[in-house]
Amino acid sequence: MYVMQCRQGDVGFVGARAELVPYRNIELSPCSGVLNYGQGLIGGLKVYRRPSSDASGRTGYVLFRPEENARQMQVGASRMCMPAPSVEQFVNAVKQTVLANSRWVPPQGKGALYIRPLLIGSGPILGMAPAPEYTFIIYATPIGAYFKASAQEDFSAINLLVEEEFHRAFLGGTGGVKAITNYAPVLKAQVDGKSKGFADVLYLDSVHKRYVEEASSSNLFIVKGGAIATPKMAGTILPGITRSSTIQLARDQGYKVEKRLVCIDDLLTADEVFCTGTAVCITPVSTVSYKGTRFFQLAQ
Ligand SMILES: *Cc1c(COP(=O)(O)O)cnc(C)c1O
Repeated sequence: MYVMQCRQGDVGFVGARAELVPYRNIELSPCSGVLNYGQGLIGGLKVYRRPSSDASGRTGYVLFRPEENARQMQVGASRMCMPAPSVEQFVNAVKQTVLANSRWVPPQGKGALYIRPLLIGSGPILGMAPAPEYTFIIYATPIGAYFKASAQEDFSAINLLVEEEFHRAFLGGTGGVKAITNYAPVLKAQVDGKSKGFADVLYLDSVHKRYVEEASSSNLFIVKGGAIATPKMAGTILPGITRSSTIQLARDQGYKVEKRLVCIDDLLTADEVFCTGTAVCITPVSTVSYKGTRFFQLAQ
């Protein structure tokens, strides 16, 4: 794993010393900012083995938009009062981590090496304030598909439950960044949904309980009459890199893509629904359940 630290008095991570060390536990003060006040951010990106059929004839690895991941962390760090690595530092750190773990990159077509960047307020702070020291860590693990696919298909379509009680984010909060504090509060909704057989839950806006926002860690798209729509950002939805890539690809192929409010009726009457995210890639949604009724999106 890659570890880099900066302390009070440093200019953020500028000139910070970094090292690659064996994957291991880290030592933290019980009084650290991250443990007491949740000052932390996660990231996530995948690395693939370059296809052997690649026209360039090159072998090696393909990183999916690492610069965008670096920027996503910078935006989050600014919201959480933390210094962040520069784009160059971040990308270089990802590359070093991949090379150090190269034997764990799955064979082509068999999954990916998942890279997890973590930025935490590691210094001790008792009064509620930004921590005096920050640690940037990247660790990696090989992964297969996020949702299990059937033998015939690359991706299995998933069943989603619209969550009516809990909300993931609220206006003015941190829903628009990958703050670690966004995830534990919705574990309950996710665990309950999974126990009822749903792959994930969909969150509604916390004011009107009428506009669909996203799933636990993926963005949402609907297709109706050939046009594609995705909920627009208002600080309560994570601006996913897979989302922006999907919008770009769809527009390049001539589809109309709208970023707008998507109400629950739009969702339930859509021709197609899919989720996007680093973990889930692009996953088709077969059914959406809302107020006890199951709506079918994909022909079974
Ligand atoms: C990470 C994440 C996404 C997807 O973002 P990508 O950059 O595409 O991986 C969507 N929603 C939430 C809440 C997330 O944490």
